[in-house]
Amino acid sequence: MVKQTIQIFARVKPPVRKHQQGIYSIDEDEKLIPSLEIILPRDLADGFVNNKRESYKFKFQRIFDQDANQETIFENIAKPVAGSVLAGYNGTIFAYGQTGSGKTFTITGGAERYSDRGIIPRTLSYIFEQLQKDSSKIYTTHISYLEIYNECGYDLLDPRHEASSLEDLPKVTILEDPDQNIHLKNLTLHQATTEEEALNLLFLGDTNRMIAETPMNQASTRSHCIFTIHLSSKEPGSATVRHAKLHLVDLAGSERVAKTGVGGHLLTEAKYINLSLHYLEQVIIALSEKHRSHIPYRNSMMTSVLRDSLGGNCMTTMIATLSLEKRNLDESISTCRFAQRVALIKNEAVLNEEIDPRLVIKRLQKEIQELKDELAMVTGEQRTEALTEAELLQLEKLITSFLEDQDPESRLEVGADMRKVHHCFHHLKKLLNDKKILENNTVSSESKDQDCQEPLKEEEYRKLRDILKQRDNEINILVNMLKKEKKKAQEALHLAGMDRREFRHSQSPPFRLGNPEEGQRMRLSSAPSQAQDFSILGKRSSLLHKKIGMREEMSLGRQEAFEIFKRDHADSVTIDDNKQILKQRFSEAKALGESINEARSKIGHLKEEITQRHIQQVALGISENMAVPLMPDQQEEKLRSQLEEEKRRYKTMFTRLKALKVEIEHLQLLMDKAKVKLQKEFEVWWAEEATNLQVNSPAVNSLDHTKPFLQTSDSQHERSQLLSNKSDVNARKILPSPCPSPHSQKQSSTSTPLEDSIPKRPVSSIPLTGDSQTDSDIIAFIKARQSILQKQCLGSN
Ligand code: ADP
Ligand code: MG
Repeated sequence: MVKQTIQIFARVKPPVRKHQQGIYSIDEDEKLIPSLEIILPRDLADGFVNNKRESYKFKFQRIFDQDANQETIFENIAKPVAGSVLAGYNGTIFAYGQTGSGKTFTITGGAERYSDRGIIPRTLSYIFEQLQKDSSKIYTTHISYLEIYNECGYDLLDPRHEASSLEDLPKVTILEDPDQNIHLKNLTLHQATTEEEALNLLFLGDTNRMIAETPMNQASTRSHCIFTIHLSSKEPGSATVRHAKLHLVDLAGSERVAKTGVGGHLLTEAKYINLSLHYLEQVIIALSEKHRSHIPYRNSMMTSVLRDSLGGNCMTTMIATLSLEKRNLDESISTCRFAQRVALIKNEAVLNEEIDPRLVIKRLQKEIQELKDELAMVTGEQRTEALTEAELLQLEKLITSFLEDQDPESRLEVGADMRKVHHCFHHLKKLLNDKKILENNTVSSESKDQDCQEPLKEEEYRKLRDILKQRDNEINILVNMLKKEKKKAQEALHLAGMDRREFRHSQSPPFRLGNPEEGQRMRLSSAPSQAQDFSILGKRSSLLHKKIGMREEMSLGRQEAFEIFKRDHADSVTIDDNKQILKQRFSEAKALGESINEARSKIGHLKEEITQRHIQQVALGISENMAVPLMPDQQEEKLRSQLEEEKRRYKTMFTRLKALKVEIEHLQLLMDKAKVKLQKEFEVWWAEEATNLQVNSPAVNSLDHTKPFLQTSDSQHERSQLLSNKSDVNARKILPSPCPSPHSQKQSSTSTPLEDSIPKRPVSSIPLTGDSQTDSDIIAFIKARQSILQKQCLGSN
């Protein structure tokens, strides 16, 4: 058992704007516990805090300042936890902090660079690397990904995600067994045999989460995500299995309402926006106070799921993410205060070991066989399963004569054969039932007599019989258990089979955003894992395909709009950059592959040459009658050193290629995700335009439809103006191109009369049919509005 308090770490996010000096300082004296001091600027300190304190100091295990990279975070925080999970203990790492402070960045990673990989991908990589190294145990890894939103649990890896919206999926619910263990119903566990498979599951879950998110349900800031790695291990031949779980938790934003009260005073009783976090805090408070007997775990889903992580059987680590800018100081202080309480909680982690019933059955079967052998040795005869007809007849005759025999001393002699004994009993029972005349004590007195007469043999015999009976019972119980297990597995298989069938059904040509890398990725996978790669990639592309909404079905006009939208979208730079990097990596991989092949054939040649040389020397020795020299000659020495050199080169290149493969996979997943996001935002924007079209159609109809769609920077300018009055933030995010004209500020702040006159209708009231007539109307409308604005712009110039 390992007793440990929850470890707390702090990570400070680099500021968006220029660093504001003197807001905090970190004291990391090697001898003392590191501390973070938050210094309030004078103007804030006066009104902001009742007692006019000017600085707050908080202790942490370690504090990572702005320049700490993802590798450092992984090495210092996650690696030790992953290590104890590999040893069989449960582990949890959770990130806590306000929205935008870097929780997702820390737990999952950034969406742009490979080097921004967060704790989850790095931990997966580390765990699979370690599993590969350790051949002394047999390991199995499963992944689950749970999202908790509004106190409801959703399975982010539910295959039905593709077809249904979040609300239609079965909710994940909590079941508690009599031992108070928590079980999650409807949360699927997916086996992952490689790092690649596990990563695909992570991205699948993230994409599902992103797709389910709408402006109304800001899932990423209001929901909690729990990515769990379930690891089991056993030594070959042993019936004991170890189970360990690693939860990697990205909590909802910890911001509270009523940040500051009247007069700018910080309200200590400020409430969380998120109810689950409120309950989490209650549990933390209860745990950190001594002598509290009741801990309110059951109040919320999250505290129930994380019950072991909080004050239970788990090694837990918290990362307080801080965005230390002036406007965030109160939230940052709250985060640090929360961490101080968490640090008081003591956990007790134990090894979770369990006996596997299948292995026990095997052991018992072996024992039975041994007992049977022993029995055969005692009785001197080998038994078959059942008695023959002749034997049965013989027995019945014996019973009849036994029953008819008036001599009280008479005995029914069947020998030490359980089958015969059982048959006699059965037969007697039958006779008894049939005739209803035989007295009970007859049989018992007879058997008593038997006991007395052959005490030694019978004693031994009874012992063996009892053991056999006991084992039979045990086996029956275990076989029943197994049957249940098997039934469950079959149901799961059946379900999976159905999914696969559906999936096969939906395998229309994959969606492409003009990406040449899709074809290449297939070729890169190594041969043995190809089948798996295809199935996962297939699943992924089918997901993308479905989610993105089948571009093939888009009307031409909508496709045109999408192309422009894509070009102007802020993310397109990232996508292009990543495409560029991918191309580079691909050509590097290709070149490496070629060099590897060269090296391989060179190695072959060198080996061949050495063998040839040997043969020559032997032949020379025979023809000249000389002994073959034992030591290799100079020429051979040279060949050998060349061979070694080539082998080294081969190995280095191979390792590099393997790393490249992982990086390429990761980049591809990042791009897939970015594409889904782009498409989703396009749909929102499109719906907006559709709304405006319906509201404005009379005005538009009177305008000149034939104006071409301007694709210059002016057109971007106008579109950004068009959208500048909209209430939806998304719309603004989508078209971020700055207006190059000096009048732009004025333009955007004073809306056009056209815009003002538009009453807004909810987006949902416009059915988006993909109807090409409607679509071309929208395009025409957008173009028309642009030309109006262009005229206005020119006029004001
Ligand atoms: P949260 O999940 O807490 O709401 P995010 O992880 O989404 O916050 O971070 C908000 C933004 O800040 C993201 O664009 C992210 O890439 C960036 N970010 C966060 N932490 C860091 C960091 N340590 N270094 C660089 N960028 C960061
Ligand atoms: Mg987040």
